[in-house]
Amino acid sequence: MLTDAPTALFMFLSCIAGRVSAAGSDEARQHGNGTACQQLAAKFPSKTFGRGSSKYTLESDDPACVFTPSDEHDVVSALAIIEATHTKFSVRSGGHMPVVGAQSNDNGVFIALTEINIKEFNDDKSVLSVGPGNRWIDVYNFTSQYGLAVAGGRYGQVGVGGLLTGGGVNFFGNLVGWSCNTLVGAQVVLGNGSIVETSATSHPDLFWALKGGNNNYGIVTRFEMKTYPVTTAYAGATAWDGEDAAQVVADAIQAFIMPGGGIDDPHTELNPSIEVHPFVDEGFFRSAYLPFVNGTFSASPVSIENFTSIPGAWYDTVSHRENWVSLPIEVAAVDNNLRREQFRALALKAAPGVVDLAVDVVLRPALESGELSQVNGSVVSVAFEPISQMMLQAAQDSGDYAMDVDPADGSFMIILIATNWLDAQWDELMYSYSKDAADRLEARAKELGVFYDFIYLNNAAEGQNPFAAYGKGKSLPRMQKIQKEYDPEGVIESLMGSGFKLP
Ligand SMILES: Cc1cc2nc3c(=O)[nH]c(=O)nc-3n(C[C@H](O)[C@H](O)[C@H](O)COP(=O)(O)OP(=O)(O)OC[C@H]3O[C@@H](n4cnc5c(N)ncnc54)[C@H](O)[C@@H]3O)c2cc1C
Repeated sequence: MLTDAPTALFMFLSCIAGRVSAAGSDEARQHGNGTACQQLAAKFPSKTFGRGSSKYTLESDDPACVFTPSDEHDVVSALAIIEATHTKFSVRSGGHMPVVGAQSNDNGVFIALTEINIKEFNDDKSVLSVGPGNRWIDVYNFTSQYGLAVAGGRYGQVGVGGLLTGGGVNFFGNLVGWSCNTLVGAQVVLGNGSIVETSATSHPDLFWALKGGNNNYGIVTRFEMKTYPVTTAYAGATAWDGEDAAQVVADAIQAFIMPGGGIDDPHTELNPSIEVHPFVDEGFFRSAYLPFVNGTFSASPVSIENFTSIPGAWYDTVSHRENWVSLPIEVAAVDNNLRREQFRALALKAAPGVVDLAVDVVLRPALESGELSQVNGSVVSVAFEPISQMMLQAAQDSGDYAMDVDPADGSFMIILIATNWLDAQWDELMYSYSKDAADRLEARAKELGVFYDFIYLNNAAEGQNPFAAYGKGKSLPRMQKIQKEYDPEGVIESLMGSGFKLP
């Protein structure tokens, strides 16, 4: 049994999508042969990196060059060249969406937003301007100096751009909704090169569409996020091994999501997961949870007592924290981009028996499958993301948004099936396992009346269509119309790579 790998604590281990690290420099470079890359290199010699450059590090796909704009004007120039040369391009913020092609491309221009990394308050510090080149940990380290937080990702290494345009499950959801609901504005560079300031009063239709529309409208070059006073928290991570412990954790998750459970506490956010390791010995179960309770507590808050009372943990850092940022820092430290990974999402109502159902349908067969025990390093994990009615109400109260999930439907859980493994030779097998397991779970949940029709974009797999269920089908036609209006030449639609294109 593995006990020496705290990285396995978290279901978010790595991404198979390409990650690039590139930064400005005046050293000599070689550039790709593509005309767009040659033009970018001529115009922006210190911001364009070709194959062979010491600043060009690429781990999977193979763009002709990497371009690192410093601001929205550089993005405008790049899009003009890209459009004129009809070159494929892709856009990366933190690079954490584990979907091939979401932010990577072969032989096109790879726009890494790393250098657009402003963090600036307005006068009364109620709003923070955030560049999409930031990762959440950069943002939190900045805001926490002032006793403030924004509602971004829970894992510090994730990027600002993908999370905010895809929704955003955050530490403060019960009070503020999805992360995108905390936006008061966003600056977007459109396919035709215009820079548009969007908000509830300026281009409100585009602002609406960006909240869940991901990269289908343009490149967001600045987000305006509400800030909240936050200092201390009761938070951390705990992990247990073994099937018996997994059952106790499953029961605790089930109790948490039922009416009157921790899900109804406005200050609590919970990120539990149960996973199996078919490759190790006869296979084993591992369970973990990351609680975040905003406030000051000398002992475990009641909302998470079902978890803090479970004995036998082999890793446990859940405690009072003087600075809430220590949790996103702690979990960022376990990121490991050497593993291959796929996400797949569906949703179940917060109904009796749903946690056991997911364990029985997704996890047990993975242990029983002879095939998965052959896959080097195979892990199959289910993350249970409680989405409370309170959170959905807060989201709706914040103003219209494309995702438009109905609070009247009550609480539900995003079921994130995350599989990860070590060698590319097993990609197909692991993809099929995850898809088949999700299909089985969906079918069984429908029979039992506990299926909830929602696919969370930020947890979805290639081929899933998150947009269909937005607003119970009402949002998609409007999103498509807005795309036609703001991208009439189809520059974004046809040239930009994307994990999730509007159908
Ligand atoms: C370790 C880990 C932890 C996670 N934790 C959370 C969490 O706490 N809450 C949550 O909701 N999700 C979480 N996720 C899911 C995460 O939100 C998504 O994978 C998200 O898309 C990642 O954003 P990114 O900027 O890092 O990714 P990227 O891969 O850079 O971008 C994702 C997509 O968004 C597009 N995009 C990025 N920036 C822009 C922009 N400025 N303008 C237009 N399009 C843009 C890209 O083109 C790409 O298609 C986590 C994922 C991982 C791997």
